[in-house]
Amino acid sequence: MKVTFPHMGNVYIGAKFLMDGLGIDYVIPPFNSKRALEIGSLYSPEEICLPFKIMMGNYIESIERGADTIILTGSCGPCRFGEYAELQMKILKKLGKNLDFIVLDLPSDIGFDELKRRINKISSQSPKSKKEKYMALVNAYRIIGLIDALEAKAHERAGYEVNKGECKCLLNECKRKLLDTNNPKEAISILKEYHKKMDEVEISREKNPIRVAIIGEIYTIIEPFSNLYIEDKLMEMGVSTKRTLSPSWWVYNTVLLSPFGLTAKRIRDAAKEYLPLGVGGHGQECVGEAILSYEEGFDGAIQIFPLGCMPEIVSKSILPSIARDKNFPILSLVVDEMTGEAGYQTRLEAFIDLLERRRGYVLSGN
Ligand code: SF4
Repeated sequence: MKVTFPHMGNVYIGAKFLMDGLGIDYVIPPFNSKRALEIGSLYSPEEICLPFKIMMGNYIESIERGADTIILTGSCGPCRFGEYAELQMKILKKLGKNLDFIVLDLPSDIGFDELKRRINKISSQSPKSKKEKYMALVNAYRIIGLIDALEAKAHERAGYEVNKGECKCLLNECKRKLLDTNNPKEAISILKEYHKKMDEVEISREKNPIRVAIIGEIYTIIEPFSNLYIEDKLMEMGVSTKRTLSPSWWVYNTVLLSPFGLTAKRIRDAAKEYLPLGVGGHGQECVGEAILSYEEGFDGAIQIFPLGCMPEIVSKSILPSIARDKNFPILSLVVDEMTGEAGYQTRLEAFIDLLERRRGYVLSGN
C-alpha cells in the first residue's frame, strides 16, 4: 500500500507525520501548480468546483509517483463535496487507474462500524503496535495544531514586524525543515523552536496596521495555490490577517465536537440573525465569521470561494446586508482556473486602499 492525499493547506504536514508514525509508505503530491490544475481540469466535469479539479491533478501526479491508495475525508452534507469521492473514483477508473479510495466520513453519516472498517483498512497496513499507532495519531494531531498556530501567528504579526518579510521567511523555513525529517517527535521540536523564533520577531504594536479577516469556503481559504497566495500578498502589504478555518480547526470541530452538536458553536450562534440554518460547506460559518470579525474590531473581511460554490453563493448574498448594517467593508473574491492574477491583485490592493482611506476618514472624525 502506498497512500496519497490531496493538498489542502497544511494537511500534507499532518498526513505525512501520521504515515511516518504508522510506518506506512506514502506519496506527498507535488505542491499545487499550473500543471496539477491543468491535468485536473482536463479530466473533471467543466462545471464542478475548483477544489475537485485541483484534487484530481494531485491524484494523477501522485499515481505517476506510485501511489495506489487515496485517503480523503468525506461529507454527506448538502453540497458537492459529498459527491467528490464517488465521482473521482469513477473518473480514475475510466482512465484505467484502479485505485483504492478510503473515504473517512463521520460516524453519524456512515455508522461507527463502517468507519472502523475503513480505519482498519489503513491501520492493518501498519507494522506498529497498538500503542505506537495511538501515539502516531496523537503526534500528528499535535503537529497539525502547531503548524496551523504558527501560520496564524505569522499572519497576525506580519502587520507589526519591524523587519519586513521576517514572519513569512520564518514560516517558510519551518515548513521546509519539516519536510527534511520523518520523525514526528523531531517535527514537534522543530515547530516549538519556530514558535519561539516567531515570538521573538521584533514587532512594533504602535504600527496599527490594517487588520483583515479571511472568510469563505474552507478549501480555497486554506490552500494557498487556489487563492493565488492571498495571505502571502497581504503579509507583503503589511496587513495583519486572521483566518479561523484551518485543518486543525476542522479536525477539532468536525471530529471532536460534532458528536455533541457543538461544531463551530460560537460562529454559528453569531450567524443566526442573518442565516439561522446550515446551507452546506461552511456557508453559515462564513456569515458568522463576518459578524465576529466586525465585533473584534477588524477593518474588513475578504470572502474567497470557488466559482459555482453553492453554500458560498448563499453567504455572498447575505454579506452585503451585514456590510450595510454594520458599516463593515467585505470584499468577495471568486476563484476558478480562469482567474487572472493581475485583476485579482488590483482588486486586493484597491480594497486595502479603501480600508486605509476609510480609517483616515474615521480617525479625522469627518
Ligand atoms: S463547499 Fe463549495 S467548493 Fe466546496 S465542495 Fe461544496 S460546492 Fe464545492
